[in-house]
Amino acid sequence: MTRLLYSEDPGRLEFTAKVVRLDRIEDIPVAVTDRTAFFPEGGGQPGDSGWLGDTPVTTTTYDDGEALHWLEGEPEFRPGDVIEGRVDGEVRRDHAQQHTAQHLLSALLYNAHDLDTLSFHLGRESSHIDLDASPGDLSDEFLDGVETEVNLRVMENIPVSVTLAPGDPPTRLRGKSTEEIRGELRVVEIGDALDASACCGTHTRSTGEIGPVAFLGTTTVRGRIRLFFLAGSRALDHYRRGIRDLGNIASMTGTGTGEAVERVERLLRENDALGDRSKLLEVSLARCHAQTLFPRLDESGLLRARWASEDVPGADHPRMVAAHLPADRPWILLAAVSEGDSAKITLARSPAEGEDLTGVPLSIFRCLGGRGGGTPDMIRGAMESSDFEAFADELRSHLESRTDSDG
Ligand SMILES: [Zn+2]
Repeated sequence: MTRLLYSEDPGRLEFTAKVVRLDRIEDIPVAVTDRTAFFPEGGGQPGDSGWLGDTPVTTTTYDDGEALHWLEGEPEFRPGDVIEGRVDGEVRRDHAQQHTAQHLLSALLYNAHDLDTLSFHLGRESSHIDLDASPGDLSDEFLDGVETEVNLRVMENIPVSVTLAPGDPPTRLRGKSTEEIRGELRVVEIGDALDASACCGTHTRSTGEIGPVAFLGTTTVRGRIRLFFLAGSRALDHYRRGIRDLGNIASMTGTGTGEAVERVERLLRENDALGDRSKLLEVSLARCHAQTLFPRLDESGLLRARWASEDVPGADHPRMVAAHLPADRPWILLAAVSEGDSAKITLARSPAEGEDLTGVPLSIFRCLGGRGGGTPDMIRGAMESSDFEAFADELRSHLESRTDSDG
């Protein structure tokens, strides 16, 4: 058994302990000491990090009565050594802020609204609780009210106390849990009557130490409401980022922060309208190119077209042109869209054309740079711009020989 010092003395971050055992789990060195101030992961709260001697501890877990310190690198100590341990105070404070915020939040939801907290998770980015509520039960106004209420209780700076093995726990515990955790019943209370719950975690000494609490929103998981929140420095960082981002958006759109949302909505509407207009123009241009191109159909049944990339709306333009060529006449379209020395090639056929484009001779297909591929109706690839005319001539000869053998 490891003696858990944090339980008796939550403020303690430094300690001395004797190394009981060194292990390896999945090739990571793990140390067990006879006592520790490190909080081992449990109850939704991650384990503490810090140092044993000079060796960093990345996290702490609990297994069968023992706290396991997960080490970063090989330790300089051996079993039997007496070493100094130090918990990372910033990580401890951050975890205590999120965790105590959860106690306060769950207590307010339970006391005033009869809402049970089913589970709690303290994440690297944000934390969440799952509530015994269904989608639609909690309106935005309701959640705003709860968020305000939590922050008011923080400002009142109500003491948070921990009692080991209390005399009469069952009647005053939230959730009626009298379960012993890690071999002891530990009751965490906020004020005289705000909350009492059985918990093995680390907490702030008063609600004031939690700092601001910010709700991030809700989602539905397995039919229950999951509420995301931040507390303390995390909430402060979140507000700071939000204020900065809003300021940047306002200055980019040339408006004040109060009008930024309205301005962005208008810009998005305008953008949608421009997108629709641009699609119409793309279709018109494709129809126009198809109309001017078709009269140039040669005797072999080949249509050749070359465009510079800056003159057409995109790489899809040849396909759109093909869609506007007469579907009841046989033709094969060979189109290039050039950008510098290279050209994107599209080979498309009329629905009235019998030639399977994947059956075009290999010598021709190789000209597509070996990177082309497609279906009997359309092949796409790339080649050197300067090879295009030679390739078109070769394709034309192939189509002519086919006409000759057909005739
Ligand atoms: Zn707790």
